[in-house]
Amino acid sequence: MTDVMLNGAQEKLRDMTREYLTQEVLPHTAAIDRDDIIPEPLIRKLLGEPLRLTALSVPREYDGMGLGTMDVCIVAEQVGYACPALIPLVEIAQLFAHGLLYGGTDQQKKNYLTRLANGMVGCYALTDEGPGSDPAGMKSTAGKTKDGWLLNGRKRLVTFADISEFSIFFAKSSPEKGGRGISGFIVEGKPKGLVFESHAATMGLRGHRAFNVVLDNLFVPDQGLLGKQDEGLRLALEILNTTRISLAAGFTGLAAAAFDAAVAFAKQRMVGGNPIIANQAIAFPLSELSARIDAARLLTYRAALMHDRGMQHKRETSTAKFYAAETLISAVELASRVLGAYGASPEYPVERYVRDAFSWIAAQGTIEVQKLVVSREL
Ligand SMILES: Cc1cc2nc3c(=O)[nH]c(=O)nc-3n(C[C@H](O)[C@H](O)[C@H](O)COP(=O)(O)OP(=O)(O)OC[C@H]3O[C@@H](n4cnc5c(N)ncnc54)[C@H](O)[C@@H]3O)c2cc1C
Repeated sequence: MTDVMLNGAQEKLRDMTREYLTQEVLPHTAAIDRDDIIPEPLIRKLLGEPLRLTALSVPREYDGMGLGTMDVCIVAEQVGYACPALIPLVEIAQLFAHGLLYGGTDQQKKNYLTRLANGMVGCYALTDEGPGSDPAGMKSTAGKTKDGWLLNGRKRLVTFADISEFSIFFAKSSPEKGGRGISGFIVEGKPKGLVFESHAATMGLRGHRAFNVVLDNLFVPDQGLLGKQDEGLRLALEILNTTRISLAAGFTGLAAAAFDAAVAFAKQRMVGGNPIIANQAIAFPLSELSARIDAARLLTYRAALMHDRGMQHKRETSTAKFYAAETLISAVELASRVLGAYGASPEYPVERYVRDAFSWIAAQGTIEVQKLVVSREL
């Protein structure tokens, strides 16, 4: 399929990713959902050649693939199409990599980005025990000691914390300064003081694992500070302003999967001697959804291209993110309706798409928060 927005190399990247996922992942998606676990060998396979899902945006000088955001979006859309439970693997690598790229010292970049590119996993813990939409109100603290910091508090929904070799945590280093007193910290391994409280169960995206984590006097040495002291919230939001673009691409991928399932069903389901797609009541909503999916993809490409060209893109990123999320919800709702009773049956993937969509859209900031970001840029 030709896409006028993509060059030849990008079309090849899209086709290679789609073929690989179709062969290696699609046969496992139902079992991943049923068992609520992505088998470790499958994760390892996806971190190796040819996809190298944690190496996508790591620069080549650190052994990464050196892809721009546009290329990462092409991969993320295909992952969202084939198996959304795997998207968090792409996304936490994006979050971790951009944390290092935007805030890391040369030494930190060399150390962590090289390991990330070579198949290790790093995670990102911003969301605190309170509302995720208000990171400035977080309660976790970082108290200074002679040669480091002691972190205390609770983090929620830390995706793939269990398999991560390193993590970025945000905590208040100057609580009296509110949002202007937050710092980022890199934590190596699973040291004493990093306590895994529970796995946050969700109705969809089953297989991906998000953990509630307690920081109990967790010691981080001075060299673990990420970026400047007290400038962690600015860093966290700068990271999200980039990674939300590929997340929007993932939403578009799942919306396209729901759309394809609905069209295939509508063409073969005969009612009164005609396929149901012959009814305008079915055909027109599908046409409208087709347009919305195209628009979500184009908005995502626009934000990605602006990022890759070094332009400001906050408004465009949050526009793509909320539009793609709303498109995804419209897609799974329509697909479920078109399939009639089969929309809720495990015989078809659509019921899983519905669960996946609702379990996913709040990641990296809700629809409402993205609209708030856009409104502040108007
Ligand atoms: C699949 C998944 C993976 C995740 N992985 C991670 C991770 O790895 N690391 C991490 O740190 N976090 C992670 N998160 C957490 C995510 O960032 C938060 O869920 C998100 O920020 C929303 O926070 P909340 O769920 O606490 O909702 P709340 O902030 O409690 O919001 C509740 C409702 O209030 C609305 N609301 C809040 N503020 C406003 C406002 N000002 N105006 C209008 N409406 C408002 C929201 O839109 C929402 O509808 C993940 C979430 C999901 C779903």
